[in-house]
Amino acid sequence: MPKEQSFAQRLIAWQQAAGRHDLPWQGSRDPYRVWLSEIMLQQTQVATVIPYYQRFLSSFPDVVALAAAPIERVVEHWAGLGYYARARNLHRCAQQIVAQHGGAFPRTAAELAELPGIGRSTAAAIAAFSFGERAAILDGNVKRVLCRVFGIAGFPGSAPVERKLWQLAESLLPETGIEAYTQGLMDLGATLCTRGTPHCPACPFADACVARREGRQKTLPEARPRAPMPERNATFVLITDGQRLLLERRPPSGLWGGLLVPPEGEPEQVLAARGLCALAQRKLPDLKHAFTHFRLTLQPVLCRVQAPPATGETGSAWLPLSKAAAAGVPTPIARLIRLVASAPD
Ligand code: SF4
Repeated sequence: MPKEQSFAQRLIAWQQAAGRHDLPWQGSRDPYRVWLSEIMLQQTQVATVIPYYQRFLSSFPDVVALAAAPIERVVEHWAGLGYYARARNLHRCAQQIVAQHGGAFPRTAAELAELPGIGRSTAAAIAAFSFGERAAILDGNVKRVLCRVFGIAGFPGSAPVERKLWQLAESLLPETGIEAYTQGLMDLGATLCTRGTPHCPACPFADACVARREGRQKTLPEARPRAPMPERNATFVLITDGQRLLLERRPPSGLWGGLLVPPEGEPEQVLAARGLCALAQRKLPDLKHAFTHFRLTLQPVLCRVQAPPATGETGSAWLPLSKAAAAGVPTPIARLIRLVASAPD
């Protein structure tokens, strides 16, 4: 891992030598232009943003013009950029700057972050580029770079990992050169340390990056953890006369639709509903089975009954214990049947 100071120095040197320098919003410290570009660049790539930025600026050259424009006109200029809440917030923000700040942008990241549509990272970028404030940015691209270079585990959208990343981002800030440093982070995430295939050999951190050293570029940053699998329990009553087992066909839809399985439910109710009476009853060990969308714990109960009449109801069958497991039953049921067949009492 690079020493903290050398991270900033390396990044600034790389930005100056190989970063982007001719984007239309660069070379200006006008907070209106910086703000506009930063909002447009949220969730949207540079190449898409450039023509929108230029059209927007020629129609609304400053924050006063934007605040005075009807919202419909602002949204019209945004059409095609997506995430339209950004356009509405942009307009509200311009009106607030005119009404509450006399048309001048606040000069600190903390104050900027109070305005509509300006989050902590965007506020820091505007403050750094417009007023030279040493403020840390942490958008999706920067999270990816930091997770990879420093080998930060965990999903970066989770509160503890995000907190850690903010602390790291702040600890890395250079004493001077905040503009090149901030631009460098953006450039690195957009041009080299990309989501799919990072171009590691050209990267200023190639020799120090944890993800590169350990071949973890594809697994850092970590993906959002999957929601835990729902758990379900079901009691199956294995009814036997010592020779045969009662199986019943499930309804066509639902779990194991149309297959033969032992009756499901509370043993007393299951037996009573079938006119049977238990001579003996015991629980068998639970059996777990994973489906695509949930995990099922089968809680089998073995009931010994007197020999029932030879014919069963429609949809039910008394099958020899030795053959029931092969009667087209679901896999976990077959395991249960084999267990019973090997020790029916
Ligand atoms: S070495 Fe590769 S993975 Fe590491 S920061 Fe650079 S581009 Fe990203």
